[in-house]
Amino acid sequence: MARLYDSRKRILVTGGAGFIGSHLIDRLLDHGHEVLCVDNMFTGSKRNIDHLHNHPRFELMRHDVTFPLYVEVDEIYNLACPASPIHYQHDPVQTTKTSVHGAINMLGLAKRLKCKIFQASTSEVYGDPTVHPQSEEYWGNVNPIGIRSCYDEGKRCAETLFFDYHRQHGLDIKVARIFNTYGSRMHHADGRVVSNFIVQALQGNSITIYGDGTQTRSFCYVDDLVEGFIRLMETGSEVTGPINLGNPNEFTIRELAEKVIEKVGSRSELVFHDLPQDDPKQRQPDITKAKVTLDWEPTVPLDQGLDRTIDYFRSRLPELAPSA
Ligand code: NAD
Ligand code: UDP
Ligand code: UDP
Repeated sequence: MARLYDSRKRILVTGGAGFIGSHLIDRLLDHGHEVLCVDNMFTGSKRNIDHLHNHPRFELMRHDVTFPLYVEVDEIYNLACPASPIHYQHDPVQTTKTSVHGAINMLGLAKRLKCKIFQASTSEVYGDPTVHPQSEEYWGNVNPIGIRSCYDEGKRCAETLFFDYHRQHGLDIKVARIFNTYGSRMHHADGRVVSNFIVQALQGNSITIYGDGTQTRSFCYVDDLVEGFIRLMETGSEVTGPINLGNPNEFTIRELAEKVIEKVGSRSELVFHDLPQDDPKQRQPDITKAKVTLDWEPTVPLDQGLDRTIDYFRSRLPELAPSA
């Protein structure tokens, strides 16, 4: 749904060459804005933004947000951070630096420019939650020294910085806590469950279930998520978040596997591996706040989103690594 804007803005999207960032950029360009994409290409890919190569309102800057950035923009969406466990555990120190130093630099930029700044936080701030579903009031159950901590604690510290810049310097901040999101342009080999299962099913390989598959997740289609981002950014300065953005429909990992196998029409078998350390047992967003504040809720059911995502991976199958 296209909406009217007061005027064209110049918008910075850090992490814009990634999965979610590239969809956000498409939407912002559709709305008539100029977009500056800043990305160090750690997990992002030129393929995600290739179609924008000659777009007159799009610009790509290769830059690492852990270093200062001096540009002139009207709004900032800070998404830069590896998001999948395989990627963020590859160089955990850099992951924390990206969240913490990246937040400081982007907040410093927003402070100088007196502009709105959005932070892509995560449901991981709730850790392995002891309350269910998770509302924004819950403070979380996070292991500070485990293998997921570089991501979880990095994002928690980034939230702290956002709220301190808000209180101390009056910054207009928008903090979104994003729950598991899927769709086209997910990295095919970053180990996330939706992309893993779809690629495994398409290649006729076994579907790898970690643990017994009874752990749950709630999967949000990327178009719904991006709509939530934009609605949050459009709110007045009284709205800071944190605000949960995700799809509250919860599935077990085993249910997801069975759904993917059926949709792909694959003969893949289920194989069971050890559950990774600190893997949350259940996760479901309470999105009451988003409904009330943003008049937002997801509209794409898992079945429909999976069909679209399967189509995407099917079209890319010839270029993906051959089956193991
Ligand atoms: P992604 O890995 O596809 O995108 C992240 C982008 O950030 C990549 O393009 C990467 O190259 C870039 N990046 C990483 N470190 C950087 C640095 N130091 N400087 C500049 N760029 C850097 O991941 P995504 O799924 O698109 O996630 C986007 C954001 O949303 C992340 O902040 C992530 O933590 C958050 N998030 C995602 C999910 C999800 O389910 N995908 C859930 C919760 C939160
Ligand atoms: N910063 C930036 N771009 C700017 C302004 C600041 O990257 O346009 C960075 C700068 O590196 C600084 C950080 O943001 O260290 C925090 O800025 P702030 O003004 O809050 O603090 P200070 O400059 O006093 O350290
Ligand atoms: N998972 C799985 N098989 C896979 C990949 C992931 O069973 O091939 C599980 C994983 O252990 C977790 C859930 O699926 O319980 C979601 O994993 P993902 O990495 O996508 O997201 P996160 O754990 O960050 O929510």
